[in-house]
Amino acid sequence: MQSNTPRLLRQQAYIDGTWQDADSGDRIDVNDPATGEIIGSVPKMGASETRRAIEAAARALPAWRALTAKERSGKLRRWFELVLENQDELARLMTLEQGKPLAEARGEIAYAASFIEWFAEEAKRVYGDTIPGHQADKRLIVIKQPIGVTAAITPWNFPAAMITRKAGPALAAGCTMVLKPASQTPFSALALAALAEQAGIPAGVLNVVTGSAGDIGGELTSNSLVRKLSFTGSTEIGRQLMAECARDIKKVSLELGGNAPFIVFDDADLDAAVEGAIVSKYRNNGQTCVCANRLYVQAGVYDAFVEKLQAAVGKLKVGNGLEEGVTTGPLIDAKALAKVREHIDDAVAKGARVVSGGKHHALGGGFFEPTILTEVPREALVAREETFGPLAPLFRFDDEAEVIALANDTEFGLASYFYARDLSRVFRVAEALEYGMVGINTGLISNEVAPFGGIKASGLGREGSKYGIEDYLEIKYLCLGI
Ligand code: ADP
Repeated sequence: MQSNTPRLLRQQAYIDGTWQDADSGDRIDVNDPATGEIIGSVPKMGASETRRAIEAAARALPAWRALTAKERSGKLRRWFELVLENQDELARLMTLEQGKPLAEARGEIAYAASFIEWFAEEAKRVYGDTIPGHQADKRLIVIKQPIGVTAAITPWNFPAAMITRKAGPALAAGCTMVLKPASQTPFSALALAALAEQAGIPAGVLNVVTGSAGDIGGELTSNSLVRKLSFTGSTEIGRQLMAECARDIKKVSLELGGNAPFIVFDDADLDAAVEGAIVSKYRNNGQTCVCANRLYVQAGVYDAFVEKLQAAVGKLKVGNGLEEGVTTGPLIDAKALAKVREHIDDAVAKGARVVSGGKHHALGGGFFEPTILTEVPREALVAREETFGPLAPLFRFDDEAEVIALANDTEFGLASYFYARDLSRVFRVAEALEYGMVGINTGLISNEVAPFGGIKASGLGREGSKYGIEDYLEIKYLCLGI
């Protein structure tokens, strides 16, 4: 690690309020995707350390859930403040391990903190119900209680926000948690744990276990002390984890893959649509599950949209995210790069044209040129699969019914976007899109106050908003005879 080692860099896992190494002593190196340099390492833990973390979370549960909501809220509030006080350093750490530009990393830290703040507030608003009795001598009451020990598995594309979006509501509700961050980006998770410790969140309430995904995941899903799993990642792994959780009928929340359509109608404000497409497609170098994956542009504005989008993409600056002015960092690894390459080659072989980018960037490594493909045929691979990279494939369409059918023709149902000004069309299309989220005349929809989540193979449950805490609560019905 370079001399300017971030103060919050923690190279041990956090279990039961202590910083620990793997029983085996094995470690996993963490690379800077911009340079390939090793920036540090974390313990390669497995089932036995995970079991200890789960047992610690179970021991911590009674005292944590017995606190008043206001007391838990106060500790979460302090955690939120500490995250913001350390925004610059957390952002730098994130750029080092994930590659996103520093400005974007700063934005993610603020976004991550906002979930802690929001759920610190929501902790105090977990209301129950009283129900008019079905018999004269009965009183019916509904209370909500924390589910218990929970587990979370998070991905590398949002190394901080995916953690707080799960740990925030879990801890607010009175649950405890064992979390496994992605092995590419464990340092953001460990830094957040260090700040949680500093904020006075008691030992065992939040544990972070690094290491082998299969071994840790296997213990999290098979240990009967764990009552709920929340996962963000690929549909393939989500499906597997859900099946593993079926044995104990554990509750699951899943935020899985998407294949977001981005539709530009003839009556759209084209400049706004281009701005939205840039944010939605190229943010985090296309590595978000809500990134526009398929851009459908109506025939009447197709050529004009292409021209404006090309101009905007031409202004993106690819480079190391720590450098001033860089808008687009490297892809996370070689596999990610290969996927972009595959989607471009497939579309071009089927008749698409490359009008911007299309190649591995001159900087080499994980850098790829922001790319636009036009006249992409509907049978191209990119119409069905998520690229997770800086590739905007433009499809041409003629009418509304046709594009709605195309947009919905996927197993996924996470985010969707469209640009239109006709009010009747806005409601028609918004209601017809089979997605958990619809951005209308905007390319940026994620925030802590709104319910984030998908339908179909994109997942179960919602994160953020007043609904997010429900995923960590059980409903209990009391029937009182008087
Ligand atoms: P991605 O392709 O975005 O990395 P994955 O679904 O492979 O998505 O990974 C998301 C998270 O799931 C990561 O933390 C990863 O380590 C974890 N993971 C991958 N495979 C498994 C598994 N078999 N069991 C549990 N967790 C897993």
